[in-house]
Amino acid sequence: MDEKSYQDARQNERKRASFIESINLKEHPYVKRAEYEKIQQGEEWMFASCGYLFGKPRKAIIKVVPLAFSKLETLPDFLSCIYDHECFHVREFHSTRKGYVQVGLKELVLHFLSEGILQTKTLVRTKLMKESCEAEVRAYANQLSNANDRGISPAFKEILENRLESYKNAVGSLQHAIF
Ligand SMILES: [Zn+2]
Repeated sequence: MDEKSYQDARQNERKRASFIESINLKEHPYVKRAEYEKIQQGEEWMFASCGYLFGKPRKAIIKVVPLAFSKLETLPDFLSCIYDHECFHVREFHSTRKGYVQVGLKELVLHFLSEGILQTKTLVRTKLMKESCEAEVRAYANQLSNANDRGISPAFKEILENRLESYKNAVGSLQHAIF
């Protein structure tokens, strides 16, 4: 796995599955595997399928969707997302049972907040949204704290800083909506 093989996978969709299979996940025992998902879901780059099996957290599968390859310009940016964000979610879920991010939910909340139409009616949902956004704050903060070691690009660092700020604001607004 090197920069060239990543750039090849960016250019050629047929190389993406094998590129993702070559990612070393040995240090992440709670991750079963990472795989390419051809169908784009929302604005995600990749996501971890956390969940339970017979009451215990089961091993997660990290799905990488096409947007990851179009938006993440360098291998360090890509690995930062896999290791410092998705694996972080999985590790947190397994160790604390927190941070189970429902796909689509956090996008929905950001949309509501941007439209100014977040209602207090759906309190349970709001609490779930807040937990989900808090998990994102922790994951983006973790990504940023490892940014220099990982060698991510300055442009990508800025994107992460913006996302961290958005989720912090979302948590603040949701807090306000609950109490
Ligand atoms: Zn996340």
